[in-house]
Amino acid sequence: MQTIQHFINGKTVTDDQRTQSVFNPATGQPCKNVALAGSATVKAAIESAQAAFPAWRNTPAAKRAQVMYRFKQLLEDNADKICALLTEEHGKVLDDARGELARGIENVEYACGVPELLKGEHSKNVGPAIDSWSEFQPLGVVAGITPFNFPAMVPLWMYPMAIACGNTFVLKPSERDPSSALLIAELLQEAGLPKGVLNVVNGDKEAVDVLLTDPGVKAVSFVGSTPIAEHVYNTANKHGKRVQALGGAKNHAIVLPDADLDNTVNALMGAAYGSCGERCMALSVVVCVGDDLADNLVGRLRDQLKGLKVGPGTDPASEMGPLINQAHLHKVSGFLAQGVEQGAELVVDGRNLVVPGHEAGFFLGGCLFDRVKPEMIIYREEIFGPVLCVMRVDTMEAAMELIDAHEYGNGTCIFTRDGEAARYFSDHIEVGMVGINVPLPVPVSYHSFGGWKRSLFGDLHAYGPDAVRFYTKRKTITQRWPSSGVREGSQYAFPS
Ligand code: NAD
Repeated sequence: MQTIQHFINGKTVTDDQRTQSVFNPATGQPCKNVALAGSATVKAAIESAQAAFPAWRNTPAAKRAQVMYRFKQLLEDNADKICALLTEEHGKVLDDARGELARGIENVEYACGVPELLKGEHSKNVGPAIDSWSEFQPLGVVAGITPFNFPAMVPLWMYPMAIACGNTFVLKPSERDPSSALLIAELLQEAGLPKGVLNVVNGDKEAVDVLLTDPGVKAVSFVGSTPIAEHVYNTANKHGKRVQALGGAKNHAIVLPDADLDNTVNALMGAAYGSCGERCMALSVVVCVGDDLADNLVGRLRDQLKGLKVGPGTDPASEMGPLINQAHLHKVSGFLAQGVEQGAELVVDGRNLVVPGHEAGFFLGGCLFDRVKPEMIIYREEIFGPVLCVMRVDTMEAAMELIDAHEYGNGTCIFTRDGEAARYFSDHIEVGMVGINVPLPVPVSYHSFGGWKRSLFGDLHAYGPDAVRFYTKRKTITQRWPSSGVREGSQYAFPS
């Protein structure tokens, strides 16, 4: 069986003293192994990035952008191959994989504009014959650590902009679905990226901890679950690095009685059950304002769930694939049992679903809970599976209080025809990304992505304009060229 290795200084490097299986979630069988890098391999990747930095930093931004143009084309040319890997190892349906890749490519397009983004700021004559300007210089070696649920898109949130800004990079993708990250790194090299500018090491905590502590790494971008995000943030910060660590979520939708229910139900279905609920922007809670509305909505969701087509991601008829692995299936099933035990009403139970021909796959049917209460575990914790919780409140204010009291603040949305209510909601809600009749308000690449509260540790959001700031440091230069022959005495007062 193939073992996925590491990509350092432009070539495959073998370090497979420790390995683990990569599963095809639709069959439930291992399809590959992945090597788990030891500390020496991670250090070699950092050294390779350090060695590549001086020349890459001095490469004109326009030349760096040209590499990104070619990279974008290669990503498009190889989309079928990349998406097949995503479906094989993650399980998501092919259409969803195509959407993921397209949203990743958007970030490469944005990075193509890096000469414009790095233009800096200039002020002439800040004093007599004195000019001043600010420029944005790369940091050096940046590390990226990414989750299993978007194996192509989330790395593309990070290194295209980091590299376009003149940094060099070490990526540590998820060990659960590592293949697409390696294929994409090879495409970037084919696009003309010099060796060592992007390195990929596969591994687990052992590899991550080297990236968080090694003095050669200047900044860390992390995306994953909140406990690990917090560990990454604290550890890398303590070691003097700039850090952004994006964590987990519990995204609520509020439905007001005046909402267009047909569209709302369709939107909720896609946002709750798409990608088997394994999205950090998945809608996992619907807060209905009013009991009549809740009864109506729950009835419609139950009916639609009966028709949800669950099957292998390679089958074009499938709308939802399997969960990532057996342990996660077990964890999500455990949440379902706890929800029932704590008194929530399990209106649709997706356990015991059998997909013919894929009996050993990690499948779970769509699940729907009604009458969920704030103290229940299924409400407090991120489930990260195809489980939608319905809550009932009397007013929009009560719905907003619920959302504001939750520890996560990644995404939220409201379904209504009332512009005033929607405007009040978006203005006041304590959440980083807000949708108005838009169920998955994932910002486009020329805005930035990030949650509030315990969904993000750090000051700057991912990709977009914030990424240009995160991957550069400002330097401000003040310059004076006095006319020849002008002589001035010393000044002891502060210059003004
Ligand atoms: P995870 O936290 O288990 O893993 C993320 C990365 O951290 C992986 O590369 C993994 O190898 C590494 N890691 C795991 N345990 C570690 C440890 N103890 N020490 C150091 N590194 C460790 O997350 P996951 O299960 O791969 O992804 C799902 C999670 O990611 C969900 O919580 C989801 O909400 C979150 N997510 C957040 C966003 C966002 O933008 N906020 C986007 C995607 C996913």
